[in-house]
Amino acid sequence: MQGVNHFVNLAFRDAIQMHANGKRTWVTDLETALRRLPLFPVILDITELGSVAGIDSLIDKVQKSCAQFLHQSLNTERLPLLKPDIRPMVSTSFQTVLCLRKYLRTVRVPAHRRALLSLLCADHSLGVEQLRRRRYPDKSRIPRECRICRYCGAPTETEIHALFRCEGPEESNMITDRRLKFMERVEQIAIGAVGADLVARCTSDTDESTIIAIHFFLEHDDLAPVFAKYVYDVLKTFPISL
Ligand SMILES: [Zn+2]
Repeated sequence: MQGVNHFVNLAFRDAIQMHANGKRTWVTDLETALRRLPLFPVILDITELGSVAGIDSLIDKVQKSCAQFLHQSLNTERLPLLKPDIRPMVSTSFQTVLCLRKYLRTVRVPAHRRALLSLLCADHSLGVEQLRRRRYPDKSRIPRECRICRYCGAPTETEIHALFRCEGPEESNMITDRRLKFMERVEQIAIGAVGADLVARCTSDTDESTIIAIHFFLEHDDLAPVFAKYVYDVLKTFPISL
């Protein structure tokens, strides 16, 4: 902080004093902004602004509020691949909830990175999301179990279904061939038991087991680009044409 007679310091303390006297200053705006933080508002104690330790404590409260909000926002059926309960996240830790994910650097092809992000963030062409955005003629919502796969008629055309379960169109082995190629690459890169375990997880009937494998791919320097390319290819076979 600047010396007590420095203009910046004087202006800073002046603003705090004016706010305390009921005059509108940037401190008032700060108080309003903190109170409006979604779900986990922060109540400003202006005595905290009087010291470096107090300001650090306030920053910490804001970071925790944002972390809790994001953590809660991720915990939705809409984002099955980002659910926080199977990822190393602590709801109050800003550093674990909001950090630069490794795959954003290891997946170097922009189109593949975009495809991967659209899959993870459920902003993709698959029925589970596209039909969530639509309504029946009577304006009622289309239930999740009625968003059936365009190729095999499975109850829901989800991310996991498209990537690892769908047999694809009757007249073509396009999806199953591409999947086989992906699994072979996984076993070439993750040699031995690890590769076999990943393939078993991808082909298991349990979504959670498959999602654990997906997060392994995302964290792996060599598997992340291979997985992103696979996602890119699979999403191309499920265009928005519903
Ligand atoms: Zn299918």
